[in-house]
Amino acid sequence: MMAWNDILEEINHCNKCGFCLPTCPTYQITGNELASPRGRIAMVEALAREEITVGNGLDEALSYCLDCRACETACPSGVQYHKILEAGRQRLWSERPASRTYPWVVRQALNTVTRPKRLARMTWVARRLKKLPLPRALKQFTPMLAHTAPLPSPLPDVPAPQHAVHFFEGCIMSAVFPEANQSARYLLQTCHVAVSSPQGQTCCGALHWHAGEIDTAKKLAKQNIAAFEVGSDFIVNTAGGCGATLQEYKHLLADEPLWAERAERFSQRVKDWSTVFLAYGGTVSLEGQGEHVTLQNSCHLVNVEKAGDDAVAVLERVNNQAFTPLRSQNMCCGSAGTYNLEHTEWSLKILDQKMDEVDSMGPDRILVNNPGCHLQMQWGTTRRPSTAAVVVEHLATYLYRAAKTAYNSSKQLDSGKVD
Ligand code: SF4
Ligand code: SF4
Repeated sequence: MMAWNDILEEINHCNKCGFCLPTCPTYQITGNELASPRGRIAMVEALAREEITVGNGLDEALSYCLDCRACETACPSGVQYHKILEAGRQRLWSERPASRTYPWVVRQALNTVTRPKRLARMTWVARRLKKLPLPRALKQFTPMLAHTAPLPSPLPDVPAPQHAVHFFEGCIMSAVFPEANQSARYLLQTCHVAVSSPQGQTCCGALHWHAGEIDTAKKLAKQNIAAFEVGSDFIVNTAGGCGATLQEYKHLLADEPLWAERAERFSQRVKDWSTVFLAYGGTVSLEGQGEHVTLQNSCHLVNVEKAGDDAVAVLERVNNQAFTPLRSQNMCCGSAGTYNLEHTEWSLKILDQKMDEVDSMGPDRILVNNPGCHLQMQWGTTRRPSTAAVVVEHLATYLYRAAKTAYNSSKQLDSGKVD
């Protein structure tokens, strides 16, 4: 964590202009200054100057922030809000440890994501629980975990590789959405990219870092850095939240002399899979099935990795589809790690705003690029009959099908079966 003097210097960059306010989901749903970036910065400043103590509403102000970082993208002064938030939360948690106790379900999530076998077991159970008559409090979460989709088969006529990447699996992506990871792998192979998955990799640590469990986050970061150290190729992934965390290892380990340089090198290699596909996949044909699709971009992909436009550009390359971006495409869906479990009421208000927009557009599919957004949007569609038929799907899964359709069409044309 930065020293308080440095935090105050960062805070001094904020000129209180308020440009960030309209981009902040919690300000949008409350209209309350204390639920806005400017209000939260003011609270941390008052704390740093010892004008307030850790009571005085600081807990509410800071814990209800999604850490989506839309305010950073909007800020004309380049204020690094997340550093101010992290300093405020650390101080709060150190002085009031009780403010850091999580609901049981969050504790289970933190304990599970680093244990692949346990995560696989829980996913299996969730898929079965979906069919049982559960109490509403539990039932509301089962659509989020009960996702199933068939695994894709390799795309034919894969060209010889000219590039190589290492694939970061991700704990939730590999347990709950293996079809999306596999689709991304096959798509990269069609654009001359050899894909390998190093042994020894683990959860990125995002949930622990955001929950203030810095020691666990650092331990996971070191394990990943060591696992991917061989080679200098890109490290690709299919989850905006994980990708952003991997890119930020350089900050997480900046004060550890033995790891800082290794973390910097690691972070520089991290790319979203769509960025690599966009760079190398220019000749891959993509054919949709005449559907109306929209995209919910991961806020960390947009605001931290700055790669949200790559996802849009890849999607725009698909023929025979109608793509209408959500007006709020780059705004957080309310999932935000464990936010939807800790602050369910606010999370649902943010989600319902998004679903109002989906409802008015009437798409066939909502495409996503992060597991938290996937589960959250799936939850959103099931909350009202008018959107219950909308399919939520990872962008890679959709594009894999588009590549396969284009390939099959070209073969039919070659064999004269189609005019
Ligand atoms: S990180 Fe997101 S929720 Fe938090 S203050 Fe910034 S825009 Fe608002
Ligand atoms: S964080 Fe940036 S955009 Fe928000 S009030 Fe401060 S200077 Fe303005």
